[in-house]
Amino acid sequence: MELSRLLGTSFACKCGRVHQVPVRKLVYAPGAVESLSEIIRQDGGDAQRPVLVADIRTWGVCGRQAEKTLREAGIGVTRVLVPDRPHAGPVCDDVTVQPLVRQLRGVQPDLLVAVGSGVINDLSKWAAFQLGIPYMVVATAASMNGYSSANVAPTVGGVKVLFEARAPVAVLAEPRIIEQAPPEMTAAGFGDTIAKQQSGTDWVMNHFLSDEYYCPFCAGIVADLEPLYLDHPEDIRDRRHEAIQGLFEALFWTGMAMTLVGTSVPASGGEHLFSHTLDMIAEVRGETHDLHGRQVGLGTLLSAALFQRILALDSPAFCPVPVAIDAGFWSSPAVVAAVAEQYGAKKARLEPIVRKISGHDAWDQLRTRLAAETQSPETIRAWLQRAGAAVSVADIGCSRERVKSAILHMHEIRKRFTVVDLAWLTGILPAQADDLIDEWL
Ligand SMILES: [Zn+2]
Ligand SMILES: [Zn+2]
Repeated sequence: MELSRLLGTSFACKCGRVHQVPVRKLVYAPGAVESLSEIIRQDGGDAQRPVLVADIRTWGVCGRQAEKTLREAGIGVTRVLVPDRPHAGPVCDDVTVQPLVRQLRGVQPDLLVAVGSGVINDLSKWAAFQLGIPYMVVATAASMNGYSSANVAPTVGGVKVLFEARAPVAVLAEPRIIEQAPPEMTAAGFGDTIAKQQSGTDWVMNHFLSDEYYCPFCAGIVADLEPLYLDHPEDIRDRRHEAIQGLFEALFWTGMAMTLVGTSVPASGGEHLFSHTLDMIAEVRGETHDLHGRQVGLGTLLSAALFQRILALDSPAFCPVPVAIDAGFWSSPAVVAAVAEQYGAKKARLEPIVRKISGHDAWDQLRTRLAAETQSPETIRAWLQRAGAAVSVADIGCSRERVKSAILHMHEIRKRFTVVDLAWLTGILPAQADDLIDEWL
């Protein structure tokens, strides 16, 4: 099916649900920025007081050009620049969004136009949701899959959270700009896209173990796009048009899968916990971390390695998991409380899962299902390497100690069952943490 035909529609899916596609337009073409005024007329409710939200860098990339286009079209436009932090770009957290919303309230916009990638897109989506107005985005990099999702993933009080806001009405991207984005950003987008290989395995696992809702269409939504960037991953590194366009569209549609399903499950599983945990550790220690997608790419490798070791077990002896979280590790009381709540909710779900897989047949059935979904860590590593993405602890600027801490605490931060929990139940973790780092990270 031609995916673009789904934009702005709702359709009955073979999963039994009616899915709604809230984004009305995806423009990946030369002249995309110039088409902004027309898109605002068609899809932005003919807004009269749009505000362009950017940071100092993305303003230079195409914010100024967007402003000029709108002025020439007779649309009164205001610019709001999100300030940098000392020595670093802005982040998406409660401390940043509050003054942004206050500033926007003063302008009373009827539409936000985000000009940027991960942080600016998320801040704009969040602010637009608080103001009760639509937003659209002019993308500046193929760096993550959040353009089309309704989710915002900010840090609030030091904790990585996820909540549902509203998806943009349109996503615009100028190929020249996306191709010329910093290479590490494009490599990050590659990592965020291939995460789907492993999050899909987690999803199938939960469907099998707990009868969780599963949508085959959403799970395979980018199957036709994948050859564009997975057959020759070096085309990503070499910025070839077709590969970068394939990657951008795959990011768009994997993000859309989350919107269609209403949760992050199609594109976020155990591999994402690795990145979220690294972010939280950095936050607690007042340090910086690498780009989401670069960490997620490494998390994807870790997830594949965990599945490989789990699937090699013929008849595992299930181990008791730790009774409580490692409160001393998380230190801040707010973070401890939030993590403990998630872990408590998950622990309650483990007993029926263990009962289900304790039967020999059930274990073999599960292994067969998972083996058909997961990628080998060898394949994931080769993809990352060829695309020029991060493949090691050193590449993401981490010490071995920090990565080991993340591996040993990542199962605590979300109630959702993932490969990481299965690794704890089967005794692969914590026992093989060092060995996994040595072999794969
Ligand atoms: Zn469906
Ligand atoms: Zn992601």
